[in-house]
Amino acid sequence: MGDTEKPGLIMCVCTGKCPGFAKMDIWDFINRVRMELSVEYGFIHPQLCEEDGDRFLSDFLKGKRKVIVAGCAPNMQYKLFRDAFTNAGMDVKRDLIPLDIREMTTEEAVRKVEDALAETGAVAGE
Ligand code: SF4
Repeated sequence: MGDTEKPGLIMCVCTGKCPGFAKMDIWDFINRVRMELSVEYGFIHPQLCEEDGDRFLSDFLKGKRKVIVAGCAPNMQYKLFRDAFTNAGMDVKRDLIPLDIREMTTEEAVRKVEDALAETGAVAGE
């Protein structure tokens, strides 16, 4: 995995029923991330921490690309996804960029991703 590769972004919406995402338009969020920010791609997953989410991550991480997960708290994400990253030969602390975007508006959530991309240097060419 080269440092110049853009990360992928998965938005995890907690089944779509979580009130933590009620302030934002999830479709506006993911479309703005995809079209405006320096990510390789972006998409929405319904529940990454469920068993099928583990199976999905096991397949997905074979690409060895860094991934931003926009969803719940980083400390939860590190715990929930550690095994999937380890099993894929990746390091959850190095290869996962976990962002908590709950209770945010669409604008705030997009800004949070933008700031994280700038902070981590996970931008093409850097
Ligand atoms: S990973 Fe976090 S945001 Fe996604 S379903 Fe689980 S608790 Fe919810």
